[in-house]
Amino acid sequence: MMALKIALAGIGKIARDQHIPAIAASPDWELAATVSRHASVDGVPSYDDFTAMLAARPDIEVVSLCMPPVPRFDYARAAIAAGRHVMLEKPPGATLSECHALEAMARQAGVSIYATWHSREAAMVSTAKTWLAGKRLESLVVTWKEDVRKWHPGQTWIWQAGGLGVFDPGINALSIVTEILPDPIHVTASDLFIPENCETPIAAHIAFAHPYGAKVSAEFDFRKEGDQFWNIEITTAEGSLVLSEGGAALAIDGVVQSATAAGAALTGEYPRLYANMARLVRAGGVDMDLAPMAHVADAFVLGRRIPVEPFIE
Ligand code: NAP
Repeated sequence: MMALKIALAGIGKIARDQHIPAIAASPDWELAATVSRHASVDGVPSYDDFTAMLAARPDIEVVSLCMPPVPRFDYARAAIAAGRHVMLEKPPGATLSECHALEAMARQAGVSIYATWHSREAAMVSTAKTWLAGKRLESLVVTWKEDVRKWHPGQTWIWQAGGLGVFDPGINALSIVTEILPDPIHVTASDLFIPENCETPIAAHIAFAHPYGAKVSAEFDFRKEGDQFWNIEITTAEGSLVLSEGGAALAIDGVVQSATAAGAALTGEYPRLYANMARLVRAGGVDMDLAPMAHVADAFVLGRRIPVEPFIE
């Protein structure tokens, strides 16, 4: 099958760490252009204006948008208007309404749009989902604690309205929870710990309601030094499960599960996202699951704001 030509826009941390290597390693894709106000990729035509790229390169069918969520909508809208398929980094937009608008525009234009959730592609997530199906949930506790200075150095957008603060990683946990949990949950209470000099939370505690009363909660914290935790601990009437390392590791009833034995895909999160996007484009599909974002929006709506000490990078 012919490789699909793709343009990557927003050449920052995630584009360099994950998107460029995943595209380069896949026979499905040819990186045909980059769009960046500052950067370029060796050997790839680069543009500093997105509209100019769309006009100059009708051969490029797909764009992948890697900039932060607030500026992303205008790029996605322009791409859809130009008849291109669109792949969105997580979260798929700054608001739910703009994501609904993009989906409607894509359907109208007959192009594919994909709201990616990279953590759902972590090696052990599908094994956890299979194990959980049909079991009676008693509790689910998310602990997502990382050092913002280590993982997001210099990313001022995270601290500005729309940048989500600690929900930027926290939404990854919620993308896994909404993937593996068969039951619908909703936020009932949320504490947002907001540094006095920031617009977004540095930590959050969230409680959820569950249809038959299982205890579901999440704790996100950007202030964790030393050991980092990206864990989901689940107890059911039939046993327990711990998904750790952001979905890469799994223990069932205290026994660590082998990814190979579980038949887990070992190709990595971003190669799997790009394989999904290739299938979606070839099938003419739309994949815009906004469930993780709805929980984040609800946590902000219900959030009790608690001021904490200023964040100094
Ligand atoms: P980043 O390095 O701070 O920014 C990415 C790029 O976005 C920048 O280099 C810039 O590209 C462009 N950009 C920034 N502000 C812009 C604006 N106002 N208008 C247009 N373009 C702008 O951020 P990142 O870590 O790559 O994160 C980007 C997205 O990926 C976020 O939604 C994040 O949640 C997601 N993500 C990040 C990670 C991670 O580990 N960092 C992991 C998974 C997903 P140019 O200079 O090229 O124009």
